[in-house]
Amino acid sequence: RAKQDGRNTYRFFTAEMQAESDRTLLLENALRRALERDQLTLHYQPQICMSSGRVIGAEALLRWWHPDLGCVSPAEFIPVAEASGLILQIGEWVMRTACRQLKAWMLDGIGGMGEITMAVNLSSVQFRHADLPALVSRILEESQLAPALLELELTEGVAMNDPHGAIAVMNDLHDRGIRMSIDDFGTGYSSLSYLKKFRVYKLKIDQQFVRDLSDDPEDRAIVSAIISMAKSLGLQTIAEGVESQGQLDFLREQGCNEVQGYFFAKPMPAEGFSRFVLERDEPTKQFMQSI
Ligand code: C2E
Ligand code: MG
Ligand code: MG
Ligand code: MG
Repeated sequence: RAKQDGRNTYRFFTAEMQAESDRTLLLENALRRALERDQLTLHYQPQICMSSGRVIGAEALLRWWHPDLGCVSPAEFIPVAEASGLILQIGEWVMRTACRQLKAWMLDGIGGMGEITMAVNLSSVQFRHADLPALVSRILEESQLAPALLELELTEGVAMNDPHGAIAVMNDLHDRGIRMSIDDFGTGYSSLSYLKKFRVYKLKIDQQFVRDLSDDPEDRAIVSAIISMAKSLGLQTIAEGVESQGQLDFLREQGCNEVQGYFFAKPMPAEGFSRFVLERDEPTKQFMQSI
């Protein structure tokens, strides 16, 4: 097809493909070294309870800063890590680091007025790996955390790709007390009949529906439907990408349980997160002491 369009098109096309695979190879090698040299870090974004306004969770998000390449987005390097299999090692590192961090916060009394949960994103490659449930249990034991404090975020597509396999893994995780949430909910080809078979605790409403909530009636209808469906199924809801008071007001009206987004805080290093929690808890603490 490209050949028919003429020689130049053909050459241009392959040159572009070449550049892309060069970049992939470059990233793959750099990523392998980054893992060895401990150059990956986690940022944490607060999850806020709608009714109390308190921080009740953190989502761990990978960050990679490379000396020459600069800051590489997870949207670019996660697929490379998945294709090369590196994601298994990276994912294990993420889970262990996030769990240790949560334990450290608990020992420091961060969020001591309630419990903070840790949400970790899971790649399809990790989810399909037979060792996953045992690995998660091992990491939880190592860091002496109650399983219910960890929440694994999985996108719809991953579960729907092999629903029967997914149900088995989810049952195993569920029996170990580990919670699962469906990330980016509404963007995949969700089969609602499977939703009731999945051992899921929470739906994360994708930010694409939240973005224009203030002036798009269709998005309002979709979000409202997701929330009421989740309620009937006994599932929790969290909206991601909340950036404005208007979005927050609508979500509260609809009975969304939790919110996460730049309106409250961007993902930040561990110290920033604990400072954020302490500052937010301060008024409550003063109030409790005054009564
Ligand atoms: P996600 O899990 O759906 O994470 C939400 C993304 O939205 C994050 O982007 C976050 O920084 C961003 N975000 C949060 N609040 C707002 C907001 O108010 N407005 C806007 N515009 N964006 C907001 P990030 O950190 O670049 O991560 C992108 C994706 O990369 C994640 O989507 C997740 O799928 C993947 N990812 C990140 N860390 C990990 C990881 O440790 N493991 C795996 N497997 N995937 C990860
Ligand atoms: Mg997520
Ligand atoms: Mg998401
Ligand atoms: Mg996403």
